[in-house]
Amino acid sequence: MSAPNDGKPSGPESRADGLHMINVSHAFDDHQVVRGVSVFVEPGELVCLLGPSGCGKTTLLRLAAGLEELQVGRITMGDDVVADGQGGPQLPPEKRNVGLMFQDFALFPHLTVFENIVFGLNDRDKTRREWARETLSTMGLADYADAFPHVLSGGQQQRVALLRALAPAPRVLLLDEPFSGLDVNRRAQIRQDTFQILTDLGIATLMVTHDPEEAMFMADRILVMQDGRIVQSGQPVDIYFHPETAFVAELFGPVNRLECRIENGMLTSPLGRHPAPEGIAAGAPLELLIRPEALNLAPLPAGGAAEEETLLTVLSARSLGRSTHLTLHLDDGAGGTMLNARMPGVFLPEIGTRVTARVAPENLLVFAKQDA
Ligand code: ATP
Repeated sequence: MSAPNDGKPSGPESRADGLHMINVSHAFDDHQVVRGVSVFVEPGELVCLLGPSGCGKTTLLRLAAGLEELQVGRITMGDDVVADGQGGPQLPPEKRNVGLMFQDFALFPHLTVFENIVFGLNDRDKTRREWARETLSTMGLADYADAFPHVLSGGQQQRVALLRALAPAPRVLLLDEPFSGLDVNRRAQIRQDTFQILTDLGIATLMVTHDPEEAMFMADRILVMQDGRIVQSGQPVDIYFHPETAFVAELFGPVNRLECRIENGMLTSPLGRHPAPEGIAAGAPLELLIRPEALNLAPLPAGGAAEEETLLTVLSARSLGRSTHLTLHLDDGAGGTMLNARMPGVFLPEIGTRVTARVAPENLLVFAKQDA
């Protein structure tokens, strides 16, 4: 969603503004939940706050919306300061002109779909009403304009809620887990539709999620939060392929952890010897993280394993349809280690047989040991 295009919010009051949250901190009583965080979202950009439950994502969103009073830092939209934690102005939510959509986006049951969408609009606001009609139509919901929300599917309701948030042509859009109430099949389509609408509008969007795949799909940039701080930010592929800490690597799912050490530029682990990744201080206690999908398994060839391959014994293999989940035993000479692997498609070796594993060098994730 990089460049705003011609479909930007229309109407005299429309403006695409950036959201800047600068050095924001927040505490509930003496519980510090946001610690000196800065977030910049430019017009046409979708930024995801990704992190585990309780790390402060929703609090940041509520601060941007004006639903929590800013204690420390500063929030601007375009050229306007909307909140200043040093005794400056704090605009109430209705004066910030932000679109808000939360997880439990309840529509008003006694209003029709169209009335729900234009609820926040002035009666005279013809341009935005027209926009609402047109966009309902583009979304294939024109026939439901006069229906009541209960006849809509969950996905259709989600789209109506999104239109309600966008109808007043907000300067900035704030989304809190907008897809979490939807079932898996609907979610992919609605994510796609939402992505398209936001791309067309060119609005600055800040979205909160704890679902890494959702963040990867939607975001131009991901800000990873841990315990009230942003611990890594970057494009989705960077965050996935170049996590800076074990915490960030594990956000994307369970990983295999192995002992390792670096000596003379070589990484030695139970998976063998590989050239050491750059930028890791040798000598410090290290651990090697391998994602289950990074273990590339193959049946043991008649001639035995090649030097760069590791021999593993199959403990279990279960087909999940699109992929196969395996547990494997690695004989490391010290009691052995259990590894999890995920192979694409069907790969069902006999239990107890031996297979080989290769790991591409870029999939060797080495970090300083957390509990060291
Ligand atoms: P989740 O994904 O579960 O919504 P989150 O990352 O969005 O989590 P927040 O909702 O921002 O996290 O909450 C951060 C911390 O602040 C949590 O420990 C939460 O219990 C606490 N908290 C949030 N709102 C309040 C409040 N109004 N009063 C007191 N504590 C609060």
